[in-house]
Amino acid sequence: MLDLLIKNASLPDGRKDMDIAISADRIVAVEPNITSGVEVGKTKIIDAAGHLVSPPFIDPHFHLDSTLSLGLPRLNESGTLLEGIQLWGELKPDLTAEAIKQRAHALARWSIARGTLAIRSHVDTSDDRLLAVEALLEVRKELAPWIDIQLVAFPQDGYFRYGKAADNLKRALDLGVDVVGGIPHFERTMEDGARSVTALCEIAAKRGLLVDMHCDETDDPLSRHIETLTAETIRLGLQGRVAGSHLTSMHSMDNYYVSKLLPLMREADITAIPNPLINITLQGRHDSYPKRRGMTRIKEMTAMGINVALGHDCVMDPWYSFGSHDMLEVAHMATHVGQMTGVSETRAMFAAVTENSARVMQLPDYGIEKGKYADLVILQARDPIEAIRLRPARLFVLRRGKVISTTAPVTAELDLAGQQETVDFLK
Ligand SMILES: [Zn+2]
Repeated sequence: MLDLLIKNASLPDGRKDMDIAISADRIVAVEPNITSGVEVGKTKIIDAAGHLVSPPFIDPHFHLDSTLSLGLPRLNESGTLLEGIQLWGELKPDLTAEAIKQRAHALARWSIARGTLAIRSHVDTSDDRLLAVEALLEVRKELAPWIDIQLVAFPQDGYFRYGKAADNLKRALDLGVDVVGGIPHFERTMEDGARSVTALCEIAAKRGLLVDMHCDETDDPLSRHIETLTAETIRLGLQGRVAGSHLTSMHSMDNYYVSKLLPLMREADITAIPNPLINITLQGRHDSYPKRRGMTRIKEMTAMGINVALGHDCVMDPWYSFGSHDMLEVAHMATHVGQMTGVSETRAMFAAVTENSARVMQLPDYGIEKGKYADLVILQARDPIEAIRLRPARLFVLRRGKVISTTAPVTAELDLAGQQETVDFLK
């Protein structure tokens, strides 16, 4: 017997009028006109009415320890990355585990309502107390029934630049943090940056962990730590297990050099994780005009088959004052800044906040197929391009076969000289 049947779904791959049959926490069939196993009064039916049914949105780059701290202890006046780091440093001594947990829980509720059911969060390990690490390990466990949280040990103040960083990172991994992070462009010298990439990749190889570094988040075209990251990935046999987050220096790099770099990234099977909302606001700050966009080369990487996953990075924290943790806002910004306006390119931006992000996080049993988890989002749009255009209501969010969030369809009621009309923005 089926517990739930979703009827008349449009799927991200273009299939229409599909039914999705769910038993317990799994999808058991994806076919047109499913009738077998349906028991009247026992099988719950949701009519998707031609709306898009997608696997959940996945955020592969976020900071749960700083989210929703906007204004504490003050606002970022210059709006720059470096003042953001300084401001975070001012806030850190006053942080409590309870406040971090409360804010992370609040954010996760926004995420679920937006259909985002997995988050990879960096957690700053530069605080010797490891308060945020312990708080977020608890949050990971408390939220596990509804949202998958993966934590990255992130030496925000530099792996070599801050003297206790190596010890703190090791302690964080011993406590159960999942992924090894880094910030090579923030080390004192290029050489220290390269050495930090090597040291951190070796730790990951030894412990059998994934790697995800903030890498080359700068407008300096000579910041080439991604090159070292590709080389160390291959040397240590970490192919398919490593991500470079941001990679904004690539925007400003010499084209000839990039023509060598991208095949190296593909060979190492490195995932690129741009954060378009943040990159477009933080990069190019030292430019007058023309002012660089600062986002990495999404178009070229996508065309080459490099896995591109998009992150939200921040919501209302020292680096970014906006956002409601909507991954469709991220895909929308990437589409515009990266000029990903060809049909297959815009579809690729939808994949970048769904399946590509699930791939870098190595989430098991993800997708709309028989045998996968019944984790689904029904949107008030009919295809991925319309979803990016409208960033519409998430009508239903399902986790393991259960509806965990609903939003009423959003419509406007017009009165034009006594004529009543309903507008829903679907063409
Ligand atoms: Zn980040």
